[in-house]
Order: sequence, then C-alpha cells, then structure tokens
Amino acid sequence: MIFAANFKMNHTRVSTWNYVHDLRDRMVEAGVEHEVYVFPPASALMGAHRPVVVGAQNAYPAMQGAFTGEIGMEQLDEFGIHTLLIGHSERRMLLGESQEKVAEKYAFFKARNYEIIYCVGEPIEVREQGDAAVEAYLLEELEGIDIHYGRLIVAYEPIWAIGTGRTATPEAIASTHAMLRRHIEAPLLYGGSVNPANIEEIAAVENVDGVLVGGASLEVDSFFEMMTKV
Ligand code: PEP
Repeated sequence: MIFAANFKMNHTRVSTWNYVHDLRDRMVEAGVEHEVYVFPPASALMGAHRPVVVGAQNAYPAMQGAFTGEIGMEQLDEFGIHTLLIGHSERRMLLGESQEKVAEKYAFFKARNYEIIYCVGEPIEVREQGDAAVEAYLLEELEGIDIHYGRLIVAYEPIWAIGTGRTATPEAIASTHAMLRRHIEAPLLYGGSVNPANIEEIAAVENVDGVLVGGASLEVDSFFEMMTKV
C-alpha cells in the first residue's frame, strides 16, 4: 500500500529529520514494505531515499525567478526532491489556486518527470447532491490533467472529511473510487481523517491503493501504527 503523510504547516526542520529517520528505522526493523511518502513544509525539505520518500507540498512551475514566497525546481533540486503534491483542497480553497494554475503546475512538473500526487475532492454541498454531481465535480478537477501520465498517483480527499474527524463511509469511498477507476488507471489514495482506528476498514475497500494522511501522520507512532495494521 501507499502511505503518504501531509504535514501541512506543522513540524520544523529538526523534527522532520528526526521523524523521517525514526520512521525509516522502524520500517526497516519491522520489515514493512509499504511505499511511504512524507510531505513536510518547504523549510524542512531534505534529501531522503526509499523506504521513505520526501516530497514537496507545493512548488511554482518555474526553475527560479521573481515569484515571491514560492519555491521552484532549483530549490527542489538542492534536496533531490522529485515528488510533489498538486491540487490539495487547502491550496485550491484557501490560497485560491484555480484549475488553470493547478493544470499549469501539473504540466510543468510532468514534463520534468516528477512523481505527482494529484488531489481531488468535493465539498459537502456537492456530496449532498449525489453521485452524479460528485462525478461531474471531480472530473472538472481533472480538467487539463494528463491522467495517463505514468508517474501519477491520484488522491481522493472529500473536503468535508479533511481534518474534521468525519471519514467517508466505506460504501461512499468504494463507489467514488470505482467511479474514478473507470477514468483513471493510476493508483488511487483515499484521504480524509484516516487514523489508526479506521485504517483497516479503509484499506480493505476495493480500489483503495493507499492513503494520504494529515493529522494522524504528525506523530510517527500513529503513522507507523497504521502501516503495521494492513
Ligand atoms: C489532508 O489534508 O490531506 C488530510 C487527509 O488531512 P486529515 O488526515 O487531517 O483529514
């Protein structure tokens, strides 16, 4: 399975270094063979190799330049980072990233062979309108995205389940992932309040190839515990 940890704006450079090394040691000692990614804040990026791949939560689609507050390929290269989260709902909703901008980033980093975890997810008003509305919404979030790219992983993260403690039911995850699978061959992650108490149930859902975890990934104990349960 794929386990991806999104630290968001949590952890420092030192705590990320300790986390990644601790996690790697535990995985090696326990013989855990999952594919594991950690996405720390930009200030804590570090070179790391399997079994724990470190990726960036965001980057600007340029090598370098006059883009205040952003990091580009030059900054990622310094740490050998070739994995990127694109399209997270917090960037879309809180930071105003349009589908056009998201697609531009995707095309730029795809052309440079980055591994991309691309996020989609509907707000509660759309979920309440039923499956057809959810499908239309998610397909809009895939507009301009080459879904046949070989280094793509898609994360389905219903916005109403992120950081709320409210997980989608296994039935809702199964039907949404089955719908996404009709369009997408890439691995599909589920994200939204995944934790050690619900990981077994979620991992057992058909077409769930892994999870993207926010809150419950912040402590290495809890992130590692999830890996040992499936
Ligand atoms: C996320 O933001 O990617 C996420 C899944 O967060 P949480 O696990 O805290 O819901």
